[in-house]
Amino acid sequence: MEALSNKRKVMEAKPLTFLERIYLPAIFQGLAITMRHFFRKPVTIQYPEQTREYSENFRGLHSLKRDENGKERCTACGLCALSCPAEAITMTAAERQKGEEHLYREEKYAAVYEINMLRCIFCGLCEEACPKEAIYLDGPHVTSDYLRKDFIYGKDKLVEAPLNQ
Ligand code: SF4
Ligand code: SF4
Repeated sequence: MEALSNKRKVMEAKPLTFLERIYLPAIFQGLAITMRHFFRKPVTIQYPEQTREYSENFRGLHSLKRDENGKERCTACGLCALSCPAEAITMTAAERQKGEEHLYREEKYAAVYEINMLRCIFCGLCEEACPKEAIYLDGPHVTSDYLRKDFIYGKDKLVEAPLNQ
């Protein structure tokens, strides 16, 4: 059958030279590259034993803050959830009961507050949106885990430790 165009080019395999056939130059070349990198300063570090210095505006794990009296600042207004582009925040509001004044700063508080760390992109918009200075991304890295459900962080992981601890 005749070709549609005359662009076809028949390639011919060039016979290997003697040096190419014994592979030694290529092996020594590879070894030289390995040795060169062996004595260079490594570009990686032994994480997590070693860590690099973070920049001042590093955004890590969220922390739900307490006020100077140890009361939870969050009033479950929902602004952080509304501003979250990843829809990572969910919460359930509750009314403060008598006798709980020492726990929550205002009449309304977040009975449930959850952040899905697999969705979060650490943009910091929740921190910017919060009118109560109740949430900051000033924690460490989110650690690895095995199950998806373990990346949904609740108040047990997010709220700051009480003042007397
Ligand atoms: S840091 Fe950004 S993505 Fe993560 S919870 Fe806050 S608003 Fe959502
Ligand atoms: S963290 Fe701030 S913005 Fe989010 S619900 Fe609580 S008070 Fe509102």
